[in-house]
Amino acid sequence: MPNKKISALEVAIQQVDLAAEMLNLESGICEMLKKPTKSLIVAVPIRRDNGEINVFTGIRVQHSKARGPYKGGIRYHPDVTLEEVTALAMWMTWKCAVADIPYGGAKGGIKCNPKELSIGELERLTRRYTTMILNIIGPYQDVPAPDVYTDAQTMAWIMDTYSQFKGYLVPEVVTGKPLHLQGSEGREAATARGLTYCIDEATKHLGMKLRNATVAVQGFGKVGWNAARILDDQGCKIIALSDSKGGIYNPKGINPTKVNEHKKKTDSVMDYKGCKNITNEELLETECDILIPAAMENQITKENAGNIKTHLLAEGANGPTTPEASKILAEKGIFMIPDILANSGGVTVSYFEWVQNLHREHWTKEEVHRKLKYKMVNAFKDVFDAMKEYETDMRNAAFTLGVGRVADSIKSLGLWP
Ligand code: GLU
Repeated sequence: MPNKKISALEVAIQQVDLAAEMLNLESGICEMLKKPTKSLIVAVPIRRDNGEINVFTGIRVQHSKARGPYKGGIRYHPDVTLEEVTALAMWMTWKCAVADIPYGGAKGGIKCNPKELSIGELERLTRRYTTMILNIIGPYQDVPAPDVYTDAQTMAWIMDTYSQFKGYLVPEVVTGKPLHLQGSEGREAATARGLTYCIDEATKHLGMKLRNATVAVQGFGKVGWNAARILDDQGCKIIALSDSKGGIYNPKGINPTKVNEHKKKTDSVMDYKGCKNITNEELLETECDILIPAAMENQITKENAGNIKTHLLAEGANGPTTPEASKILAEKGIFMIPDILANSGGVTVSYFEWVQNLHREHWTKEEVHRKLKYKMVNAFKDVFDAMKEYETDMRNAAFTLGVGRVADSIKSLGLWP
């Protein structure tokens, strides 16, 4: 992966400064927006299967509640730091504002390598972490969800731990739960589906055809795999895929479903028949119509931005492009669907799940897809209109729109006391 020169938090702060300048924002409000309301760090001890005790660092950062309860995922990853989680929490605030759903922003994480933990160890880690953040989460307070290397099972453990303390079942405390435990239809693939709705809108604007459009996807988690699968169904030609170990390339096209089967057997997309193995760096520089970074932050930097050869960048991951790189891409005429717009389908269906839980309802898959499409098309249009209004690119427009909406709420709420 490219060198990490600038931290995610530095990127997040630069983005607020840029938006504040466009909006002519009062400096005190800008100061408020650049700091999280609350950051909690907990030491999470668990007993390993071998009898030893290990202590992991758990974090929950609550950035803003100006537009509603704190909202955001929890990730399990060896690179989790307070700075990274803070940046991710800030991005959740702008994302919920751009998606126009009534939430603020938060993020959580545990610094660990989930691939080295057994299912029992993961359950104990999740339950102990939940207990330690119990006082700051809740259906109207802070609603966690899945993120990198956490899933519906993780959410079920959080829901059960929270409910055990309350004495009754509280499904609305987390989203992204299993379907049979009051999860929502369409949540699992929602981020990827929302991304494809944005790609649809962008291709209409660019006069591009989806049929046979060449696509490169970095990352083969929930977002990358589902995006590749849906775009393949829509007639796109997937020419490059990757995971954390490396990637594969075939200009004639790759069947993502078959690669998924191969990955289940071998633990990587690499060495798939008929394809050339490539690195993650090479994947990003592949000549293609649509490039989808769907892995981690800081992948497209000023070092490699000049080598990106795509027409459309659709960001499945959070923060994959640094501000300097974004400038270079915009100058090259690459149309960007920035993360806080492109991947907002996940939190949008999280919102649908929360509404269903609060009303004790269950919507059909068709209803969820229809409502998601409506929200994504509107969010895309709002960002597109902001791009025209502020005479800027899609990324700056999205941040300006998101930051502006949160600033408006703060101004109207006023300061207490
Ligand atoms: N982790 C996802 C994101 O980064 C979803 C968050 C949520 O549903 O609350 O947008």
